Amino acid sequence: MSDIVKILPVEVSNKIAAGEVVQRPSSVLKELLENSIDANSSKIKIIIKNAGKNLIQVIDDGDGMSINDMHLSFTKHATSKINKIEDVFSISSMGFRGEALAAISSVSMIEMTSNKELDNDGYFIEINGGKIINEKESNVEKGTSIKVKNIFFNVPARRNFLKSDFVELRHIMNVFHNVAISHNEIEFSFINNDEEIYYLKTESLKKRIISIFGEKIREHLIPINENTQIANLNGFILKPEYAKKSRSNQFIFVNNRSIKSQFINHSISSSFDGLLRDGYYPGYFLFINMDPLKIDVNVHPNKTEIKFDDDQSLYSIINSSVKHCLGMYQISPVLDFDKDPSMDISYTQINTDPKTPSIEVDSEFNPFKIFNDENFVKKNSDISSSINQSNIFEENDISSKIFQIFNKYIVSTSTSSLIIINQNLAHQRILYEDFLKSIFEGSSESQKLVFPIEISLTNAQLVLFNKIETEFDSLGFVYELSNSLLIITSVPVQLENNSIEEIIDDILDDEDIFDKSKNLSYSDFFAKKLSKSSSIKTGKNLNSDEQEFLVNQLFSCKEPNLSPDNKQIFITLNKNDIENRF
Ligand code: ADP
Ligand code: MG
Repeated sequence: MSDIVKILPVEVSNKIAAGEVVQRPSSVLKELLENSIDANSSKIKIIIKNAGKNLIQVIDDGDGMSINDMHLSFTKHATSKINKIEDVFSISSMGFRGEALAAISSVSMIEMTSNKELDNDGYFIEINGGKIINEKESNVEKGTSIKVKNIFFNVPARRNFLKSDFVELRHIMNVFHNVAISHNEIEFSFINNDEEIYYLKTESLKKRIISIFGEKIREHLIPINENTQIANLNGFILKPEYAKKSRSNQFIFVNNRSIKSQFINHSISSSFDGLLRDGYYPGYFLFINMDPLKIDVNVHPNKTEIKFDDDQSLYSIINSSVKHCLGMYQISPVLDFDKDPSMDISYTQINTDPKTPSIEVDSEFNPFKIFNDENFVKKNSDISSSINQSNIFEENDISSKIFQIFNKYIVSTSTSSLIIINQNLAHQRILYEDFLKSIFEGSSESQKLVFPIEISLTNAQLVLFNKIETEFDSLGFVYELSNSLLIITSVPVQLENNSIEEIIDDILDDEDIFDKSKNLSYSDFFAKKLSKSSSIKTGKNLNSDEQEFLVNQLFSCKEPNLSPDNKQIFITLNKNDIENRF
């Protein structure tokens, strides 16, 4: 029998290896930006077309390359950044594996120009699927420009695997945010489909964060600054009020490299214990600086994982520093030296003497009365005490057959059974059907707001908002959009008493809507999202009218059994079920 083991041709092995480095357009952007940073650039321009599927271009004013370097840079394991294996363990550059350009060029079409000296002409080189197809002298400025076109043109399976433009653009922006935040000394311009969506000049870290996330983040930034023998920490922690339902505001950098780390996330989150609502994640921009010998970056080709020699100590340092910084801000407000102090005083107050706040005293106040107050008893009843408190049912005499328990369930009795309804899920279902009806029947009702709500959208949110405006209209929102300021004048009636700003933030930060593979229609997505945000929450005490209303509405729904997320809304116990328990 003939031998069957053979060495794969370079093009094939490169394509296979490319899968680890180049997962999607955003990974290309990450590698190109890292190369420009390593080349000491002070200005970087990014041009994206069709969410990077057609073009990702990075132009820098860095060191540039000679013609030989340009040729070599596309071969595997070609790097100028390390010489010997020891160098890997004391890395200060972003790249070091020498495989990014080789991997990218094997799955795309590349055009590169580069010039090392200010007075030289420079060169142009074109590569298709890893092969040089054209090269010539070219009159270009000092620095390097790399165009990566038609990613995965020769690996159709991977090209088809790419997500919608919205999802890919989100990933691209996320990479850009990470790099721009950790390199505030560099000037960036970001052009998406011919529109410049970011222009960031050299600025302080704080200003850079504000330039990217919008002015409203300013007052939520608490500085963190801690120097220890193991690591130095700095950056900003976001106040608990700014927590989000997604992890989109979590940024960790180790020696200025953006990384992902479960244990660091966990360490920070646990410092927030008791300060966050359920399902909300804290935000942070945490820079950890430590001896490169004490970490290993070479865990995965995409270099976003790090091994720490002493992760337990690091865990406790981060945990206590974040606690300390949260505690400090609660005691003393953060002084903002970047801010013009005159901005804190509204115009009408500038020339008037400050008023002493008046104190109102309730002369009727009787500290013991509160314990007799029925509401007080109900609000503070936990599971066991509420069962023992006979007066909990006083208001809702059991003969009325509907009552609330644990501020969470509505119990409805009938002659043959007992139904226990989860109030939050029931209300979600009611609202969900209501919203869908408004959208499909065009029957949405709006409530005009006394004070219009102004929400300044981040650039990333704005790009996405433009795509979903139609659905937004059909729900009953009335608004104007001037630059990035969304001014809402009316809202759907169902949302009247909710924090509209939070709801909109939540919608525009959710990636699922743009993920076609999840098969969500925009209408369904909105109906789900809005019903969840505006539903009656667990813990809310409901009066008997409200309880009755909820039960009646639920059972006139088309699908009263399941919540919009397919959770069971109620359980039924019939006489047999109960008797079997004895
Ligand atoms: P690595 O960054 O790990 O060294 P890459 O494949 O990303 O590997 O790049 C290979 C080499 O090409 C780099 O080591 C560097 O010398 C050169 N290079 C790549 N991009 C640039 C750039 N924008 N400016 C100057 N040199 C570059
Ligand atoms: Mg590189």
